[in-house]
Amino acid sequence: MDFPDRLTKAFEVTEKHFDSINIERAIFLSYYCDLKDCKFCYMSTIKSGPKKGLRSIESLFAEAFLVKMANWKVEFLSSGYGVYDTKKIADIAKGIACITGEPVWLNTGILEKDDLSVFENELKGVTASIETFTEELFQKLCPSKNWDKLINFLDIATELGYKKGVTIILGIGEKREDLENLFEIIKNYKIDRVTFYSLNPHKGTIFEDSVPPTSLYYLDIVSETRLMFPELEIVTGIWSDRINLVGPLLLAGSNGITKFSWKKFYGSKLRKSLTSEIQEFEKISKRRFKGSMTDISLLQNKLKFPEDPLYKNEAVEKEIIERSDQIKERIESYISEIRLLK
Ligand code: SF4
Repeated sequence: MDFPDRLTKAFEVTEKHFDSINIERAIFLSYYCDLKDCKFCYMSTIKSGPKKGLRSIESLFAEAFLVKMANWKVEFLSSGYGVYDTKKIADIAKGIACITGEPVWLNTGILEKDDLSVFENELKGVTASIETFTEELFQKLCPSKNWDKLINFLDIATELGYKKGVTIILGIGEKREDLENLFEIIKNYKIDRVTFYSLNPHKGTIFEDSVPPTSLYYLDIVSETRLMFPELEIVTGIWSDRINLVGPLLLAGSNGITKFSWKKFYGSKLRKSLTSEIQEFEKISKRRFKGSMTDISLLQNKLKFPEDPLYKNEAVEKEIIERSDQIKERIESYISEIRLLK
């Protein structure tokens, strides 16, 4: 099938299986990683220094409340390696699941079976950051990470009944013909969600002088993936300087958009671009975006738990209420930042 036909078909297939457009938000637990050597990652430019960039629980919970108020989705809880122990991650996951009313996904590195067993129904799925299509390229780009362990992690998640996701960065040296290899992984490990990003060439990395992959290449990969896996969740990351890609990616088979700083966009011109991209797309699609990017009145300084949640834990809700002063202080400060940027 040639590319234009594939795009049309991918659009039709996505329309058949999905009825919403999600804006996904990865909540970062920290801006720190013990490994610091993946060649595309800005962490690789920070060679030493103490652990820093750990966020307070109050700040994480405040962000989750705001994301919920705007009716975005928490894509996953994310952090570098070696930041928190599993118990701490499980406690944070329980809190965020109470706030959003939904179990969470994790993207916090490889967890051993014993570690993963610590989680209960606050956890929906785990993410293996395989980053690219083949083991060979992965091992070159991420020398301290281990491909076999990542793949084994997917097996453990299957055994324990969790959903599974992978993340892929496009434009880091992969070959188009190796896409088949990714498809094999998706099939063999029954992957539920793929998040695609495109290279963001960070200063100080080997990709500093590279350019991000072309929009047509991005659409090519997404549409091919959609046709191979009609019901797979496909989330696509877009940097704020490439908002015009939103419509085309939704057309090509993406059903969720990520990588936007909600604080940045809610209070700036970006939200107008993003809103018009989605509105324009809704003219040709039956899929609908149920959240908001513009309505600041939705963002209120109240700690309200969902009325009909998929996940509820009264003990954790009580703990959150006990911290309500500090959480509200954070929410207030985020809302003020948004108002100032407006
Ligand atoms: S493990 Fe993640 S955060 Fe750490 S260096 Fe690699 S890509 Fe960056």
